[in-house]
Amino acid sequence: MRNLILAAAAALLAAAPVQANELAATAAALRDRALSDTTAWTVTESLTSEVGARPQGSPAMDRARDWGVAKLRELGFENVRVETYEAPSWLRGPESAEVTSPYPHKLAILGLGRSTPTPRGGLEAEIAVFRTLDEMLAQPEGALKGKIAVVTERMRRTQDITGYATAVRARSIGGVEAAKRGAVGYLVRSVSTDDTRLPHTGGARFSGIPMAALSPPDAELLERLAARGAPVRVKLELASTFREKAPAYNVVGEIRGREAPDEVVVIGGHLDSWDVGTGAVDDAAGIAITTAAAKLIADLPQRPRRTIRVVMWGAEEQGGSGEAYAQANAAEVPRMILASESDLGAGEIWRVKLPAGALGHPAMRAFAQVLAPLSVAVSPEPAQSGGVDVGPLQTLGAPVAELSQDASRYFDLHHSDDDTLDKIDPKALAQNVAVWAALVYAVADSDVDFRALAGGAR
Ligand SMILES: [Zn+2]
Repeated sequence: MRNLILAAAAALLAAAPVQANELAATAAALRDRALSDTTAWTVTESLTSEVGARPQGSPAMDRARDWGVAKLRELGFENVRVETYEAPSWLRGPESAEVTSPYPHKLAILGLGRSTPTPRGGLEAEIAVFRTLDEMLAQPEGALKGKIAVVTERMRRTQDITGYATAVRARSIGGVEAAKRGAVGYLVRSVSTDDTRLPHTGGARFSGIPMAALSPPDAELLERLAARGAPVRVKLELASTFREKAPAYNVVGEIRGREAPDEVVVIGGHLDSWDVGTGAVDDAAGIAITTAAAKLIADLPQRPRRTIRVVMWGAEEQGGSGEAYAQANAAEVPRMILASESDLGAGEIWRVKLPAGALGHPAMRAFAQVLAPLSVAVSPEPAQSGGVDVGPLQTLGAPVAELSQDASRYFDLHHSDDDTLDKIDPKALAQNVAVWAALVYAVADSDVDFRALAGGAR
């Protein structure tokens, strides 16, 4: 009888999650290993050199898909697979813009995703310049008839995403609003904190008119020319192709859990990029950080209790990958323990937001402790968002975490030809891996249940 009880107790212990102090020690070891691990750098270098820019629906995206599968297999991930769906694809053709009068100037521009092409030979019209989007929105219907509307609103540099979130409206809805008021074209100052002559592209709502981003110095040139009072004319020539439905891919790999393999921690980044630069900070870095974190955990002497799944979402920039992933995996959401995407560049993590009530669990308190030497604070506020591709999972009820990167420099590079590997600091990249590895391990090797904790936190 006594032996039986002992055997039962031993079996229970084996099945139980590791104790908090043991968990903290392993998380700390992972953190320290991550700081000198070069996997994230190697993966970023590999994707940006072997594939480079990879817009959704392009042949480069097919190569990125194959790269993702090969990389996950090479690193020892299991159940490596491709989930196929359809997503929009806008692909750039030749583009040019110039001021034709009163003084001729070439303009550095990039068409916006979903821009309509100009007629062959281009489109020339007088411009109407607005310093803010709101200034243009105050114009009545018909006020911009026959004109090219120009919005030159500046973006504020912030550590978090606030500056971008505020300024991005001018890019995303400016074209639609200009078209409503009769404009035949739309130019927007790049949503960027940079002052180089590189324009920054990005997605925009379909407006039926040609839309492009101006480099910041060119936006300022147009402001000065318009301020002189005489009519300013701009010629725009934009070519592009658009398909509402093009083949798209989410690439998936797993570290299977030893006890509860059906319980899953979903992490990842997005595999697609815009067509300029090599998609290094957006978002090869996110792919690399999460892949490297999972790989470090896989290299531990024993697998974590739960499964860690890395997803390389394939159509974030033009939209559709998160929705497709949630739709294809909806039945599994109740067993998704946590979901989060790394997609704000390669700057150091400075703050973590966990699901509501998370610190009620010893594993999460252990995780918070492990962060201290990395100068990362766990916010008392619950995570609001786990990233664009995780949004649809969150809607279905998946708990999310927010690992906030320092974005102070990110928008100098984002969506521009300057988004290249040399801008990434390997040390900052490794710091990201350290935080991700510690968090993912603490969640995957414990029995933390964020849904129950959220209930307890009211
Ligand atoms: Zn991104």
